[in-house]
Amino acid sequence: MSPPTTTIFDRMSALARELGAINLGQGFPDLPEPPELLEAAQRALVEKSNQYPPMRGLADLRDAVARYYAREQGLQIEPEEVIVTSGATEALAAAIFAFLRPGDEAILFQPFYDAYLPLVERAGGVARTVSLVPPRWSLPLDRFEAAIGPRTRLVILNTPNNPTGTLVDDATLEALGELCERHDLILLCDEVWEGMIYGGAKHMSPLALSSLRERAVKVGSAGKIFSLTGWKVGWAIAAPPLAEAIARQHQYLTFTTPTPLQWAVAEGLGLPTEWHADHRARYEAGRDRLVNGLTAAGYALLPSQGTWFVTVDLAASGLPPDDEAVAERLIREVGVASIPPSVFYRDDPERGYLRLCFAKDDATLDEAIARLARFR
Ligand code: PMP
Ligand code: GLN
Repeated sequence: MSPPTTTIFDRMSALARELGAINLGQGFPDLPEPPELLEAAQRALVEKSNQYPPMRGLADLRDAVARYYAREQGLQIEPEEVIVTSGATEALAAAIFAFLRPGDEAILFQPFYDAYLPLVERAGGVARTVSLVPPRWSLPLDRFEAAIGPRTRLVILNTPNNPTGTLVDDATLEALGELCERHDLILLCDEVWEGMIYGGAKHMSPLALSSLRERAVKVGSAGKIFSLTGWKVGWAIAAPPLAEAIARQHQYLTFTTPTPLQWAVAEGLGLPTEWHADHRARYEAGRDRLVNGLTAAGYALLPSQGTWFVTVDLAASGLPPDDEAVAERLIREVGVASIPPSVFYRDDPERGYLRLCFAKDDATLDEAIARLARFR
């Protein structure tokens, strides 16, 4: 196992600060933060508790998570199935440590969010990779099935996907569920982008499928639902035996998650569906602004159904298909930071794409578009 290097997000953000570049790299928004949540957090600090909450999370938050998913996704979740964690990152770590023993195998779909591989390796696990197929980033079920072996224990799926902005379609998820059932695998599904899906597309959680209800772990993040990435309140949801195993890991990772923020998130999750739709609409407008501006400037973009990211097709945009080189030139020559998705591969990376974050105010997006137009 190689020692961890600094993540691409930190490296790109540090370089953006040093060079005064517009940061369309690391995914964090600069739009106004929801006042309802800020106000709830202030009230919680003064009026509620600042001492340790229960290890699995405040009962109010676990209830609120269950009710939110019943309303937004039609899921039947018991509060006992919810473990509150310090961000989705901790939920992923706790689940991976809970279900992988040294020598066990985990299947990862490339490109994958950067935390998965080091966590699998730290658990002593062995990663098998299956590449999604551009330009739609479809999931090749035949290659998935071929990657399953006698030591396979865990499958890590991310939908909506970071960095591609695509969703796994229902039929593929159903087929994946059947394969997980047949081979007795646990599906760890990172759904942190479930609140940021655009144009009427629908998210399906594995917990909605009978084949996966008892063998899937759903991971969510309030940081993404409310665009408050620094809050680091997340959760893992799974059937009781799985939730129990995750809680045992959680107690020695962080034990608990800041109490006032748990109160505030519980309150926020109770905001009506229309509030969530309005919140989402601001990000959809950002996506459309960046896509339209860059398309007019001659860039070719792949469709993004969700997340805060769009993908530039470099060759179709007349640029060399070498994402790291283009990212380096962009930040130094025109002052725009981006993320090269090839870093989200362990092997055979696709180098022909570039990820840009559109969760920015109009003026920032317009300036970025103008700078990128000059680059061509
Ligand atoms: N998974 C994915 C796919 C993400 O994009 C992110 C954050 N960008 C996380 C997990 C981590 O979420 P959190 O900040 O809640 O730990
Ligand atoms: N998830 C965010 C992104 O994809 C960044 C998370 C991080 O900085 N580790 O940009």
